[in-house]
Parts: sequence; structure tokens; C-alpha cells
Amino acid sequence: MANKLALFGGSKTRTRLFPDQNTIDDREIDAVIKVMRKGRLSGYRGNWCPEFMGGPSVQELEKEWQRRFNVKHAIAVNSATSGLHIACGTVGIKPGDEVIVTPYSMSCSATAPMIYGSIPVFADIERDYYCLDPDSVEERITEKTKAIIVASLFGQPYSWEINKIARKHGLIVIEDAAQAVGSHLYSKDTPDRNETLAAGTLGDIGIFSFNYGKHMNCGEGGMIVTNNDDLALRCRLIRNHAEAVINGMGGIDRGRVDLSLVGFNMRMTEINAAIIKIQLEKFDEMQTSRMINVEYLNKKLSEIPAIEIGKIRPNCSHTYYVLPFQWDSKKADGLHRDKFIEAVKAELVEREGREGEGVPIGCGYIQPLYLMPLFQYKNGFRYQKGTCPVCEDLWKNRLFLTLLHSPNSTLNDCQDVANAFEKVWENRGKLV
Ligand SMILES: *Cc1c(COP(=O)(O)O)cnc(C)c1O
Repeated sequence: MANKLALFGGSKTRTRLFPDQNTIDDREIDAVIKVMRKGRLSGYRGNWCPEFMGGPSVQELEKEWQRRFNVKHAIAVNSATSGLHIACGTVGIKPGDEVIVTPYSMSCSATAPMIYGSIPVFADIERDYYCLDPDSVEERITEKTKAIIVASLFGQPYSWEINKIARKHGLIVIEDAAQAVGSHLYSKDTPDRNETLAAGTLGDIGIFSFNYGKHMNCGEGGMIVTNNDDLALRCRLIRNHAEAVINGMGGIDRGRVDLSLVGFNMRMTEINAAIIKIQLEKFDEMQTSRMINVEYLNKKLSEIPAIEIGKIRPNCSHTYYVLPFQWDSKKADGLHRDKFIEAVKAELVEREGREGEGVPIGCGYIQPLYLMPLFQYKNGFRYQKGTCPVCEDLWKNRLFLTLLHSPNSTLNDCQDVANAFEKVWENRGKLV
């Protein structure tokens, strides 16, 4: 029987491996060869001199990034995690401070303040947009609160309301835009600034990621952005051995900025910068193919009554790092999301070169971060189940997401994905 579910031994909807995400072509390869022929693979020196700011590729990339995202300072680093650590040091987070964080993000966007001895405090998220919920954030503010680290999750900006709350309470906003590069908040929602803002530039300081899986990648890398001159200088110092550099900075007005900083080596190589420069040039082109897939999958999956497609926040654009959906078991005779998705995955296959990782469709994104062992028994943390109920419901029951829309998946590949969902939906009676 052709229609028998693969979960029960029927034939799969798709047997050919899906393509893995790969957007590297001759343009990046040529750029890398140029750097290699020059032989200077990193242009940095760790003292106060012209090379303190990095080599030509790094500096060209930063200039281009500033222009492209309409921001005064772009500071290239070796990962977004490093960027978050630098941001926390730059804004002066110190032991005993509380920082409000999201439970639904890469773990580093919640743990970054711990590097500086401060305490992450988890607030709940929005059911529709998955970013920090402004009301929950406001509830968690105490006299110790210093900053909010908000993630623009899955590809769209966080709520501007958070900025208003931060201003009211004198808090700093650090935006983790690792997943949201290229998305925007249009001016209607930012009447106090009256301009269209790129994700990453919404708070006081923002970070992007160039890790392999992200929209633009050079293997590992990241970018910090800010419009604040003092924060930018402190970022550049922490990136590159601050304590060894500060003595030599005779020409700088040292009274103006607190320069008692401990630095790291979080510098980007010339090779990585050359790759990202090309990826940035190609970004619109890469997004076009991603968005064609998104539109198709959203249309097909919305035909299944128990599936709601991801919502876009009013006055925002979405660049779909992942493609999120919600499952409503009430519209599926009580069938749980996990059983449905298990059957869908059985119809599909893995991506080429990533055998063993499973079909890239995930239930629930991640466990709420406060349930990680780190926050259960150590460091005085005892975060209980129920701390962020919306997040827990999305994790356990409602949210699922896929990466099968990302380049180099074609519409043909997406058709197989949609067919698998349809087949399982038609046979859902056999799953209860
Ligand atoms: C990927 C990611 C990071 C970490 O990026 P790296 O460059 O790998 O350090 C941080 N935050 C979010 C939300 C991410 O998705």
C-alpha cells in the first residue's frame, strides 16, 4: 500500500538525501586565495598602533557592515558568543548585578553575564513571536537589574516595548541578533526614533553570528554593532587585550571612558573577514531563494488544520533563520505534536554529509534554558518548572520548526517536505 506511513514500514515520501546548507562558491574561494597569497592571515597587533584595529579585510568588512546596517560602529569578532561576552564587559556588568534574559535562545545569550559575575534572571516569552515578553520583563525588574539581553529570535526583531521599559528603568539593552540578520523594524513602531532600524541595531549594543549554520557564514565569526562611541572603544579594547593596550593610548581622553578593562583575544582573522565580505554581498540573493521556500512551505502547511504558520510582528520583516510552526492538538483529535512530527520525520531523510544528525525538523526548539543542569543545582540557582509557562508550553506541546527551507534546498525539495506532512495528516487516525 503506497500510502502506508513510513513509521509503520511503508515507503518513505523522500529517499534522496536533502542538500546541506552551502552558500560558498568561487567568489569566497577567490577572496580566500587572495588573502593566502598575501600571507598575512591576521592583521592585528595587541598594542596601541594602527594595527590595533585589525588588518585590511577586517576593517573593510566593518566599514561595509556599518554602511549596510546604518550603524556607527561595527566590531568584528571570532564568534557571536565572544560578542556577547564583550558586550557584557563593555556595558559594565559586574558581580551582583541582575540581567534579564530569555529562556528561549542559544544558551550563551543567557550565560554571557555570568562571565562578569552577574545573575541571569529569566523572563517569559511571547506566544506568537518567541521573543522576550515586555510584561514579564517588567515584572522581573528589581533594584539590582542592570541590563536586558533580548534575542531577536528565529529571524525577526524583538518588541520595541522592551526599549521603552529599559528607558523607563535606566537599563541597558543588549540585542542578540544572531538569528535575525537582515530583518527590520519599520519606523511606525519606533516613533521616538522615527526611522527604520535593522535587527541588531535596536538596542544599545547588538551582536550577529557567522557560525556555519547562520544566514551568512565563515565557519566561525561574529559582529558587534553600536551607535555609542564609548561602548565601541571599550568593545575594541576587550576584543584585543585591553589591559596591555591602555598604557599606550596617550592620544585618547582617558577621563571620558572607564578603561580599567580586562581583554581577551576575540579577533577575527583576515580569511574569515574576506569570506563574510562576500557573503554580505550575496545576502539578498541568498535570501531570495530562502524566502521562496518559506512562502511555499507556509502556504502548503497552513492547509493542515492543526498547523499554524509563524506570525510576523506588525511593522517588521522576517528573515527566517528557522521556519517555525505551532501545532494545535485540539484540531487533531488530541494527537500530540511529537507523535505527528515523529511520523513526518520517518517519511523524510537527512541532509547530505550530515548523516546521523537526523531529519532537521525539531519539536520545541530547545528546553527552556533555566532547566539546564547549570541552573538547577549549582551556583545557588533553583529555577523551578513553571518559571516561564508560555515558553514551557511551546517547548512541550506547540512549537516545531524546520531548517529544510534554507539554501540550498529547492522548491522541489520543499515539495517533498510538504507531501510528507500531507501524507501523515491524511493518515493521522492511525497515530492515536
Ligand atoms: C548561533 C547563536 C548564537 C551563538 O553564535 P556563535 O557565533 O556560534 O557563537 C548566539 N545566540 C543565538 C540566538 C544564536 O542562534
